[in-house]
Amino acid sequence: MRKNAVHIENLSVYYGQTPALTNVCMDVDDGDFIGIMGPNGGGKSTLLKAILGLIPITKGNIQIYGQEYRKNEALIGYVPQFASMDKKFPTTCFEVVLSGCMKRGLHPFFRFSKNDKAVAFEKIERVGIEKLANKQIGELSGGEFQKMLIARALAVNPKLLLLDEPTASVDMRSKEQIYDLLEELNNDMTIMLVTHDLSAISSKVRTLACLNKSLVYHGEPEVNDNTVKKLYGCPVDLIAHGVPHRVLRRHEEENHIDKSNI
Ligand code: ADP
Repeated sequence: MRKNAVHIENLSVYYGQTPALTNVCMDVDDGDFIGIMGPNGGGKSTLLKAILGLIPITKGNIQIYGQEYRKNEALIGYVPQFASMDKKFPTTCFEVVLSGCMKRGLHPFFRFSKNDKAVAFEKIERVGIEKLANKQIGELSGGEFQKMLIARALAVNPKLLLLDEPTASVDMRSKEQIYDLLEELNNDMTIMLVTHDLSAISSKVRTLACLNKSLVYHGEPEVNDNTVKKLYGCPVDLIAHGVPHRVLRRHEEENHIDKSNI
């Protein structure tokens, strides 16, 4: 039997009086590649931060590979939102990836070991940006920047990789490259990715979840109009661009339109 990578039971998170998540129950299989979509403000980032133990949870329980989540930091790699990073900060791509090797309990005169540096290079190679290692991060394109963040998250050799909007601010070609990379990484680790962008959910995800404060859907990577209506609170005509994928059934299939006379 497959183990659960993540087990979430009745999770509620409030910021003061504001509910961000209410009674979320979710199991993520070991080896899964789950895409979690939902509107802005739907609690997607909060869910990842709760799994990481970065914010206090109001109610409920989270387990990572069967253990209390705070004990499992080393198992989790995290790719934060691109927008939360300062691209003007004077540092190189290699230094950012190396920072992923930093352990807790930093002390004065801390230095990275030879092994840390070897690990950072290995991760940079794994995401295919070795030629950019010595570039300032301000010189990187959106796609290159995201790959650098993924390399940094890999520095802890995670069993579970969490990504917050990894294809925001990247062009279509980079989007495809990032999904190819994630598909390859999925051979070695469980992946949880959140996005508000439906076109970012590619055919590469094995499972889809829809979140709008509570879990609206969790299952096959195809949703129908009712789920979308529940998720966004109104009917939305969703068009999937570029990356080959389909999350909605074709309108013709659902409405049985006879096109023979058109
Ligand atoms: P998403 O990632 O789906 O856009 P978030 O998890 O960022 O959603 O936010 C969920 C809700 O929690 C929103 O109403 C947001 O305004 C609120 N929220 C998020 N972070 C904070 C915070 N640090 N303090 C107060 N409210 C917050």
